[in-house]
Amino acid sequence: MNGMKDMKDMKNMKRLDCRILNGKKCSFVAIGRTEWDVKKAMFDHYATEHKELLLDSTEQDRRKMIDMMDKHIVRNGQKN
Ligand SMILES: [Zn+2]
Repeated sequence: MNGMKDMKDMKNMKRLDCRILNGKKCSFVAIGRTEWDVKKAMFDHYATEHKELLLDSTEQDRRKMIDMMDKHIVRNGQKN
């Protein structure tokens, strides 16, 4: 692995902090190359750690979640 190049790649990755989405004290951060990767990682995380938030969710709730995710996904090198 090339350290410098990895650093640059990491900066170009996209990230989304779980606690920004739901205000929970959760340190999970989804990181991915594309927004789709990030959203998928976040849904996987929800499915294991925040099952209760998905349990009674409607189609509309999930669409809202995705809107929130889209709004809060940032470049990894960037503060949010
Ligand atoms: Zn979480």
